[in-house]
Amino acid sequence: MEISPETVSGDLIEIDGEDHQHISKSLRMKPGEGLVLCSGDETEYVCDIYEISKKHTVARVEKIQKNQSEMQIKTILYQGVPKGQKMETVIQKCVELGVDQIVPVITRRTVVKPADLDKKTARWNKISQEAAKQSGRGKIPLITEPVELKGIEELLKKNALNIVAYENETIGIKEIFSRFSHPERIGIVIGPEGGFDNCEIKMLESLGVIAVSLGKRILRTETAGMALLSMIVYQYEL
Ligand code: SAM
Repeated sequence: MEISPETVSGDLIEIDGEDHQHISKSLRMKPGEGLVLCSGDETEYVCDIYEISKKHTVARVEKIQKNQSEMQIKTILYQGVPKGQKMETVIQKCVELGVDQIVPVITRRTVVKPADLDKKTARWNKISQEAAKQSGRGKIPLITEPVELKGIEELLKKNALNIVAYENETIGIKEIFSRFSHPERIGIVIGPEGGFDNCEIKMLESLGVIAVSLGKRILRTETAGMALLSMIVYQYEL
């Protein structure tokens, strides 16, 4: 679970709501058992359970440490919103792989209607939370509200390197990695099922985004971000 400062009192942390239910009912944990809690800033609280009541679980902090599972290089995925449940798959898998933030993007070929996206952000953040929990992440990656592709210029400026995966490109990712030894923040732009049109690629390139190939085969939109993230993990982390 992610804790906030209000839940900490001395060396005791009060846990209620869904996390309390999870600890007491699903995991059937008992006083004395160990538990690791994290804050949004990658700080970990290594605890043991002090008390479990109907209302809450109280954990006692034994050690505070920095979470070791976060990537040093931050990756931000700008994902063209796909149809149906595919965005959920993208979020779950990319959070497992270490993505720092996901920005759902509406492009010319996005078929999902903006009105249908209205209620999705809360659910998508919940999926991020679950995936972060299961992967032992030190933070819960934020899934932002959807943005229009033409509106991402400002967001991209924060990144040291921006890449757009483009199936018609011949430059491979290895070539790009060889040019950037340790970029602090990498933006990854992935198209929806119908891909990007030429104008969108030109617009992104005019913003300094580098088009790359992910190989000779066309990947599904939900595979492309995962593949590129895995390549980044391999290149900069392993
Ligand atoms: N029609 C399939 C689908 O339903 O998902 C494939 C869609 S593919 C055009 C979607 C996006 O994945 C592209 O816009 C691109 O960002 C990325 N992509 C897929 N294969 C790629 C490749 N071989 N190289 C670079 N990018 C790729």
